[in-house]
Amino acid sequence: MPDPKLPSLFVSHGAPTLALDAGETGAAWQSLAGGLPRPKAVLCVSAHWTTAAPTVSGPARNDTIHDFHGFPAPLYQITYPAPGDPALAERVARLLSGAGMTASIDRARGLDHGAWVPLRLMYPEADVPTIQLSVQPGRDAAWHYRIGEALQPLRAEGVLILGSGGAVHNLREVAWEGGPAPAWAQGFDDWLAAMVAEGRAADLLDWRRAPHARQAQPTDEHFLPLFVALGAAGKGARGERLHQGFTLGSMSMAAFKFAA
Ligand code: ZN
Repeated sequence: MPDPKLPSLFVSHGAPTLALDAGETGAAWQSLAGGLPRPKAVLCVSAHWTTAAPTVSGPARNDTIHDFHGFPAPLYQITYPAPGDPALAERVARLLSGAGMTASIDRARGLDHGAWVPLRLMYPEADVPTIQLSVQPGRDAAWHYRIGEALQPLRAEGVLILGSGGAVHNLREVAWEGGPAPAWAQGFDDWLAAMVAEGRAADLLDWRRAPHARQAQPTDEHFLPLFVALGAAGKGARGERLHQGFTLGSMSMAAFKFAA
């Protein structure tokens, strides 16, 4: 019997330009989606929606948000008009409130590039209802893990929980001309993959003590979606690295699938 629950996922979405040339990462996202049962809906936790308190997007149809500046014009032409799922947004808000984390619903918010860059490779027809949940940079990894725990029941209901951020994400260290990954970036990426593979949730939650953490993640927001995915996978969950590699020098494109 296949497990009726969907796994939870974390993907590194890279720079917006990845939408124009997704290369190996795009191929990995396509095969990742192809290897899963088709979800009834996607709940994307994107690094590009930051709020003080959890907020769920609840429009009937998603606008495409081009939340970046100074990139090539074709990027601004891309649309990803996936339907929304207002009923699921309400269910998410109820699950979070039930766990003591008051959540609100934003009925106008569309999809930011943290969501649509991977999703248009995973589900190119834009026909899977999709909602987003914000991250709280003022809160720590344990808070986001608890959010994931509260959302666990959704996995048995056909909802794909997709964290979208960056496994190593330091914009000041980006090498636009490319080049090999520096040792600090490789070191943090390796640490992360090892902890995930061994299911060491306590070490992951204490990630600020990891080697090169400050350089790999100078701010928290691109790492926090990983903890929602981890918490949603349940106690004792381990992760499988589905894709690895770097772009623009130090930016990790690692993707993980979590299951208990
Ligand atoms: Zn980003």
